[in-house]
Amino acid sequence: MPRFPAPVTSRLPTVGTTIFTVMSRLAAEHGALNLSQGFPDFPASPALFDLVAKHMHAGANQYAPMAGAPPLREALARKAEATFGTRYDPEHEITVTAGATQAIHAAVTALVRPGDEVIVLEPVYDSYVPAIELCGATAVRARLRPPAWRPDWAEVRRLVTPRTRMVMINSPHNPTGGTWAAEDLDALAELTRGTGIVVLSDEVYEHIVFDGRRHESCARHPELRDRSVVVGSFGKTFHVTGWKVGWALAPRELMAEFRKVHQFVVFTVNTPVQLALAEFLAEPARYLELPAFYQRKRDLFRAGLAASRFELLPCSGTYFQLASYQAISDEPDTALAERLTREIGVASVPVSAFYAAPPEQGPEARLLRFCFAKGEETLSRACERLAKV
Ligand code: PMP
Ligand code: GLN
Repeated sequence: MPRFPAPVTSRLPTVGTTIFTVMSRLAAEHGALNLSQGFPDFPASPALFDLVAKHMHAGANQYAPMAGAPPLREALARKAEATFGTRYDPEHEITVTAGATQAIHAAVTALVRPGDEVIVLEPVYDSYVPAIELCGATAVRARLRPPAWRPDWAEVRRLVTPRTRMVMINSPHNPTGGTWAAEDLDALAELTRGTGIVVLSDEVYEHIVFDGRRHESCARHPELRDRSVVVGSFGKTFHVTGWKVGWALAPRELMAEFRKVHQFVVFTVNTPVQLALAEFLAEPARYLELPAFYQRKRDLFRAGLAASRFELLPCSGTYFQLASYQAISDEPDTALAERLTREIGVASVPVSAFYAAPPEQGPEARLLRFCFAKGEETLSRACERLAKV
């Protein structure tokens, strides 16, 4: 017998528990190697922990300014200038957030109005569409297709209407491991030229790009810089997903609106961690080493699966590897991901979770996502098990 004395009308009627939570829970229940939810299973730098402790003991334990601790905003400005050659004003154009998720939510809430349309590219990260729908706006979906998973710009162009308020993009891309080329940003700039469309660019994997590629950031692009909210996350870059600290970069007019929402969602973020991250950022090698670090893991994982019946799709960024199981089974991907967790002890994420209407045929169907942000021993054991499937 329900205790609440009236029907509860859900604001998000189709939303359940996220696939990442579901698969991590199943992995724990079965003692499986957890290559599902995206998080490293190795420790972050002890030097970073020492910095947090230092700032806590020094008394930095009260509220930081709403937009973020000034040393961290200044460090982020230096990082953007060093990596993208672009100047962001720490006073007006940079805000520290409780992870990228909150930055994305605040940007959508601040900038998207009821009745607006927001273009997303499917497969799409799970938090985008709920954020759009909570604003009373509509998500309009274009498809990314393998093997490169770059947008079909003619298709995107057909979706633009006078109601289009935002385009949400993500490169390097979760779950596909695809990365955009400079031409993609040029195409987006051309598409949005002369409009009031805002670009929300989720760049949480900015430092995880492979084979000598350059990360193509909206922050680097001379035109897109002025219409983009660029989102980053320390979780991915410094192996601390549980700390939930990220940031947003945006031109002053957009950032002013962003902060109106941010200040009433979290107001501000954990002070000693912000100060520690600011100091840790002083050595760029700490993020510049990430491509080589993760490329080694990618290569180890791919080599371990080369003789398996999985077909590996190209992976040019992120710490996710997609594998097609077309040669193995015609089960739905969710059923297979669950079965592999139970029976062989390796958890993955079914890619159908990233679609409103998952493809049933063709190369986009029958894909599992494996996270290779794991120790070499874990990756080798997972490969041994997967090779037997
Ligand atoms: N965007 C993408 C594409 C992600 O993969 C993730 C997390 N894995 C996030 C946003 C959220 O990042 P955070 O944990 O900093 O909220
Ligand atoms: N973004 C992570 C992934 O793709 C999961 C984060 C979460 O659990 N919300 O696996």
